Formats: sequence, structure tokens, C-alpha cells
Amino acid sequence: MANRECVRCHRFFERVAFEEVCPVCFPIEEEEFRKIKEYLTVHPGASSNEVMSVIGVSLKSIRRYLKEERLEIVGDNKGFIRCELCGRPLNSGRFCDGCYKEGQALRAKGFSGSLGGPFDKYGEETREKSKKGILYREKS
Ligand SMILES: [Zn+2]
Ligand SMILES: [Zn+2]
Repeated sequence: MANRECVRCHRFFERVAFEEVCPVCFPIEEEEFRKIKEYLTVHPGASSNEVMSVIGVSLKSIRRYLKEERLEIVGDNKGFIRCELCGRPLNSGRFCDGCYKEGQALRAKGFSGSLGGPFDKYGEETREKSKKGILYREKS
């Protein structure tokens, strides 16, 4: 049963795992991402405009790769992507450290109250990096 709308072509397809694109778009997307990765390896910190015009990738796709943590923004991202809960500008992923941590804490039964930890500093260290743009993010 087709139960998922492809984010690229908007056709409905049968989702097997957590993929966001249909089987037709999947290889296209892999190829596109391979090019982005290659480009960012040579030009780390390239701007989104640069990546869009050189690779021909859409802003929407870049944003999605950022949310999927396949790419990461360095420097001031001016709210290019934001936390889906509180709207704080993010460099990659879907939630900021605070909300992510809160979500985890809520999930862990009892809310063992370890707030005020190393997450206090979030947002500060980006200032050290003078360069801004997009980086390929190596998955760990
Ligand atoms: Zn598709
Ligand atoms: Zn948040």
C-alpha cells in the first residue's frame, strides 16, 4: 500500500524503512548527495547558494539533508533551519540541544533533573568559527 508521499516528486509510495523519497527518486538523491559531499570535501564551508548553483540541488533538499544531519552549517546560519519545537536556529538536525535533551529527559521515566549541564554553552562556540557555509558531516 502506498503510504508515504515522496518529498521530491510527491508521488505516493510504499515506505519500507524511514526513507523520505520513492524508489524512483532514491538513486537520484543518492547521486545528488554524492556530488554535494564531493563538492564540500573540496570546498568545505561553501555557501548554500554555491552548492545550489554548482550541483543544481534545490534549497529544499539542502534543508532536508541538514535536518537529516547529513550536512551541517558552520557559522551564523540566520535561521536557515530551526528547531522544530522552539524555533531556535540550528546547524543541523531537527531539534536544538535544549529540546533534544528535554525530550530525552521526558522520555526517561522520572525526569531525573540533571539540567544545567554542559548544554549551557550552546550557541556560543559557533562564534569561534569565522567561516560560514555548509559542511559535509561525517556520520559517526
Ligand atoms: Zn519520488
Ligand atoms: Zn528547541
